[in-house]
Amino acid sequence: MSTPLTDTYRHRGLRRTLVEELRRKGIRDERVLAALGTVPRHLFFEAGFQVHAYQDKAFPIGEGQTISQPYTVAYQTELLRVQAQDRVLEIGTGSGYQCCVLLELTPHVFSIEYNAVLFERTRRRLAGLHRAAHLFCGDGSLGLPQHAPFDKVLVTAGAPVIPRALLRQLRVGGALVIPVGDEHSQRMMRVVRESEEEFSREVFDEFRFVPLLGKGGWGE
Ligand code: SAH
Repeated sequence: MSTPLTDTYRHRGLRRTLVEELRRKGIRDERVLAALGTVPRHLFFEAGFQVHAYQDKAFPIGEGQTISQPYTVAYQTELLRVQAQDRVLEIGTGSGYQCCVLLELTPHVFSIEYNAVLFERTRRRLAGLHRAAHLFCGDGSLGLPQHAPFDKVLVTAGAPVIPRALLRQLRVGGALVIPVGDEHSQRMMRVVRESEEEFSREVFDEFRFVPLLGKGGWGE
């Protein structure tokens, strides 16, 4: 029997297989693939559910929320084009898995979670894993003005529109990756801040996320 915090040879094998699956599905960035090959996704699941961790599927994490599918995590991370010293803000900490994938790419990761129960659980989990992200509890649709500007902002919940606060907190040259749409499906978007006043926008594939709540999202 393995204890909940162990990463075994078997888990590493399952991750290698998952990474090959992501490669087949079109993920190209080797640094992103290496990050997903490193972070022990099973440690972000409750003990009885760890067998599901290396399937390319989303999974419930309690409080009506989910840990995103590995493909979605890889896809968003690839679009974000994280550089080694980037300051990255993630909206929707959830299980903390995406946050740890980002930490493989830069040490400067800020992540904000709206749900206090998930926030507290994940804060403890990351401490137990010795992962040093800056975690906050609050409405991430307003960003994190006291720590802005950010080089990259990643939203891991579906938004009705692009929250203005997140655009304002981007550094010039920085990028926001966010799924935007209705409650059934969202288009992945990447917005680059070209100058103080100008933003360019690209639209990518369709996904289905849990809703972004809060003032810049779907409300309470
Ligand atoms: N990135 C997560 C998946 C998150 S699911 C992971 O790797 O596990 C989306 C998360 O966004 C949920 O935990 C939800 O509670 C959170 N969320 C929704 N609206 C939010 C808001 N306005 N600010 C911060 N977090 C929010």
